[in-house]
Amino acid sequence: MWHIFVLMSKKVLILGVNGFIGSSLAWKILQTTNWSVYGMDMSTNKIEHCLGHERFHFFEGDITINREWIEYHVRKCDVIVPLVAIATPSMYVTDPIRVYELDFEANVAIVKKCVQYKKRLVFPSTSEVYGMCDEKVFDELTSNFTLGPINKQRWIYSCIKQLLDRVIYAYGENNGLDYTIFRPFNFVGPKLDDIHEPKEGGSRVLTQFIHNVLQNRPIKLVDGGQQRRCFTFIDDAIDCLVKIIENPNGVASKRIFNIGNPNEDYSIAELADMVVELVKEYEEYREQAEKIEIVSVKSEDYYGKSYQDVSARVPSIDAARQYLGWEPRVTLKQALKLTLDFHLRNKDYELNEYHLR
Ligand code: UDP
Repeated sequence: MWHIFVLMSKKVLILGVNGFIGSSLAWKILQTTNWSVYGMDMSTNKIEHCLGHERFHFFEGDITINREWIEYHVRKCDVIVPLVAIATPSMYVTDPIRVYELDFEANVAIVKKCVQYKKRLVFPSTSEVYGMCDEKVFDELTSNFTLGPINKQRWIYSCIKQLLDRVIYAYGENNGLDYTIFRPFNFVGPKLDDIHEPKEGGSRVLTQFIHNVLQNRPIKLVDGGQQRRCFTFIDDAIDCLVKIIENPNGVASKRIFNIGNPNEDYSIAELADMVVELVKEYEEYREQAEKIEIVSVKSEDYYGKSYQDVSARVPSIDAARQYLGWEPRVTLKQALKLTLDFHLRNKDYELNEYHLR
């Protein structure tokens, strides 16, 4: 009897493929695997390198509108990666209902489709779920989630993601859903946010700081900038995600992984100093970097009264080490340099050796 082994290439559906994580993930998959990517997004500015690739299939659409396209592709694909979400703290306080409708309602519908069609789901949770947890290191299975009161609207995102994690976990336990939940810890890198976005508070901290230096505006440290974050370079994060999607022998199935770099733990004030020092290395920008002021602002003046901060956030990455053999490799300083090269020198990041390794 003949045994015919057919090597199946995976079909990966990425919703929000033009986002920071989606665009980097799609590119990495096309470069390093034989998988096909089916991607949806509302725009294409970050996926120019993917468009036209024979294994990249793009559809311009909106997850709240193009439900039939999504249902058809959930059925067609092997792994579903729904990355559409608002993940910017300023939005949690200015438009919490929009955050709820998109991050929760639109995404839970996709989770249910994965249950219905028995498809593997790789879902983004967030390091925000741990909230103001006072443990030194946050563990996926044992740490407590500590959120503020309802009038501190900042926590709506954390709470939404926590409920989604619980819903996905329950579908796994009760309905056999094959899932992996991952929790990003301050991913940074080229294409994080639009660097020229003028709105103060509208971007994540690194983009905001680079933007302020370029615009000759003071860098604002919220409440003095003593709060700490562990910064994770996007390519390290993507390596981890590719392993999760690959999922050899089901090692990632029904697990939750923190994806972060516990070694690169800096205060926001330290981050500001590093950004300014590094921008000075670019001759065209040296003068403005030398003049830049770093000031402290009250969080309620910067974000509004319903903001509350997280003072420290260090991931345990033992699970990713143990099950995926993953280890982050890029320091914050290297990450900043690569990000600045992309923005200030227009270096084609997709062709960068880090990105291709
Ligand atoms: N932050 C700051 N100045 C800014 C923007 C942000 O001091 O211009 C602080 C913010 O209060 C938070 C940290 O930087 O403590 C990280 O903010 P980010 O928006 O990147 O996301 P978070 O890690 O809070 O989810």
